[in-house]
Amino acid sequence: SQHLLEVQELKTQFHTFDGLALAVNDVSFTLDRKETLGIVGESGCGKSVTAQSIMRLVKEPPGKIAHGQIFFDGIDLLKISEKRMKAIRGKRISMIFQEPMTSLNPVYTIGNQIAEMYMTHEHLSKQTSWERVVDILRKVQIPAPEKRAREYPHQLSGGMRQRAMIAMALACHPEILIADEPTTALDVTIQAQILDLIFQLKEDFGASVMMITHDLGVIAEISQRVIVMYAGRVVEEGGTEAIFDDPKHPYTQGLLRSIPKIGERTQQGRRRLQEISGNVPNSYQLPPGCSFHPRCPNVMNICREKIPELSRPAPQHSVRCWLYAE
Ligand code: SF4
Ligand code: MG
Repeated sequence: SQHLLEVQELKTQFHTFDGLALAVNDVSFTLDRKETLGIVGESGCGKSVTAQSIMRLVKEPPGKIAHGQIFFDGIDLLKISEKRMKAIRGKRISMIFQEPMTSLNPVYTIGNQIAEMYMTHEHLSKQTSWERVVDILRKVQIPAPEKRAREYPHQLSGGMRQRAMIAMALACHPEILIADEPTTALDVTIQAQILDLIFQLKEDFGASVMMITHDLGVIAEISQRVIVMYAGRVVEEGGTEAIFDDPKHPYTQGLLRSIPKIGERTQQGRRRLQEISGNVPNSYQLPPGCSFHPRCPNVMNICREKIPELSRPAPQHSVRCWLYAE
């Protein structure tokens, strides 16, 4: 395959007290070298579970990857041993999270944690690893990196912790960086700085980025292509311009109406935005037919009965909605 990453018909489910939850329900997409792909949707749409499936971090039980293939550079990640996966995770594919404390260990200094990456994955000596640590902390623009390397995660501000986590994720120059809501917990100014940083480092290191977010503003700034997820499925996919200028799926249209236009955010503060009414359905109790039908302003009879097929309104644009079926 020509793609760096190819996810095919992925299904990830969880056994819950309420029943079987189909968190990721037949998801397919690709990521090319040096590409930035945005994955957008409200929380609970399966974005994070998709990422965890790629990293093989789904806890089993209660979770289970029930079906599908995930090809990375020709390797089916779902078929290899945990030992081989460990050599890929963190080195060739790495991930940053919304909350740095989920990936930073509170009992080790920042420097020790990053040095560990170099010692494990690149078999460097402790001394050389520390030199690399200081280098990478400087690259993520942490001031006084020699001093900061000797501090513990709790001694850093939220923004600095996020930079440290990015440093750890990029330490071994991964081919893919998966960023799961990396700026959601930060205030707006820091958010912009962190996004700039990720984008700049992506260019420097030649990595591909999967940017997972509920914030279409973030997607607009950073992505070349966008996948919109709803209730565990990909409902629309296209180039960023096509998605923003000519969204097809009623859900995507709703998401776009709920973000402030460029400029309004800064000049008028937060005005009341039009939100999509209703909630994301529970993934153990999906409505029949199109999962979006209880919230859709365009709902038709067929929508309540049959899952929509994929239509291609334009060559690089696909949508799962009965409005576009031939
Ligand atoms: Fe709305 Fe029907 Fe399209 Fe679903 S398939 S988004 S319910 S029009
Ligand atoms: Mg999430």
